[in-house]
Amino acid sequence: MSDPMTELFTAALGLAEPWHVKAVRFDQAAHEIHFDVTCEASRLPCPRCKAPDQPIHDRLKRDWQHLHFFQYRALIHAELPRVRCGVCGERGDTEVQQVPVPWARERSGFSLLFEAMVVTLAGMSRMPVRRIAKLLGVSDQRLWRSLGALVDAAYAKADMRGVDAVGIDEKHVGRGRVVTVVHDASPASRGRVLHVSEGCKADNVGLFVEALQAHGGNPGAIQRCSMDMAKGFIAGVKRHLPGALPCFDPFHLVKLANEALDSVRRAEVVQEPALKHTRYHWLKDASDWSRAEINLHWLRQSGLRTARAWRLKECLRDILAWRRVPHVPVLLLMDGWIQWARRCRLPAFKRLAMTFKTHIEGIRNMLTHANSNATAESINADVQSAIARARGFRTFRNLRTIVYLLKGRLDLPGSPFAHAMA
Ligand SMILES: [Zn+2]
Repeated sequence: MSDPMTELFTAALGLAEPWHVKAVRFDQAAHEIHFDVTCEASRLPCPRCKAPDQPIHDRLKRDWQHLHFFQYRALIHAELPRVRCGVCGERGDTEVQQVPVPWARERSGFSLLFEAMVVTLAGMSRMPVRRIAKLLGVSDQRLWRSLGALVDAAYAKADMRGVDAVGIDEKHVGRGRVVTVVHDASPASRGRVLHVSEGCKADNVGLFVEALQAHGGNPGAIQRCSMDMAKGFIAGVKRHLPGALPCFDPFHLVKLANEALDSVRRAEVVQEPALKHTRYHWLKDASDWSRAEINLHWLRQSGLRTARAWRLKECLRDILAWRRVPHVPVLLLMDGWIQWARRCRLPAFKRLAMTFKTHIEGIRNMLTHANSNATAESINADVQSAIARARGFRTFRNLRTIVYLLKGRLDLPGSPFAHAMA
């Protein structure tokens, strides 16, 4: 092997004995570079039992796509040796074993470096798979299959021991579809997504519990479950996680209050021109008000029904914000708020008060365990952004792949040269 060109590319592909590049072929018209890789050995160790010096049974021709070299699409071709192992044969195992190649996973048509590049582009730089496919010159379907297989393999190895708190959310993913996302709310978890399933019913909690057990987790160890007030989840947690305290998500409470407020405004705006074009003023944070909005004191302090509804909503937000402040009697304040809302003569808020009363236990749990739930609450927005990116995926499988890739904290293949650069 004295040809400098083949030697150069043997090094560039990271090959070592007995593998080397036998020939390099440029196809100028097709913008392709082809590497013919060969394994010189006539006898090899058995890939399964490691018995040394076994004869080669036959060689199978295979192709892989590698990362581009400059503008050239790079393809690796090799005849893969299959070893006939005497030791495995005597034990009654399959005699003929495919030798693994140093540049690719078993059954993958892409090299490791290529796959690492795809994971990096999709995961770290958050590039859409369609664009990666175009960049690397492969079809999106093939790329999705490869990414799906990589993520599945990494998810299968996910360790869920020690999970003691979870958050369950329903997420709308477009075209009327809903998925259930369960994330790890244990303080050290940094909010990794544990499970994604289609639909949002009690059974989805059961599916999560099955996955938890399959990954070494213990459903009996789950102490708290942060969620919204959806009937399905409440029933599912009762049935499948009987030891978990339900804690209703404070953002969800505010969202319900905002919906009630908006319905009050919509009913009143018909007779009250001052309320025209003020929808977002009532819904947004005071810190986001424009100068003109700040000056609307007269409107906020008026006797309008919308103004009263706004004051109720803001009071609820204050109580929820105080849940992490020591010595504030938030449970009493919450009871007081429900009383106020019941007597406020605004039907939307009276209904909201009834809803809160029905779910008072989960609201009290949320208020008293505020600090333990901080993780669950803060990462909800983070999971939401991953889901927002996943919207519009044609298949549930692709959606799940991207959510696990971005938020599963899986051990996915990085660049094989990463350790050399670190
Ligand atoms: Zn063997």
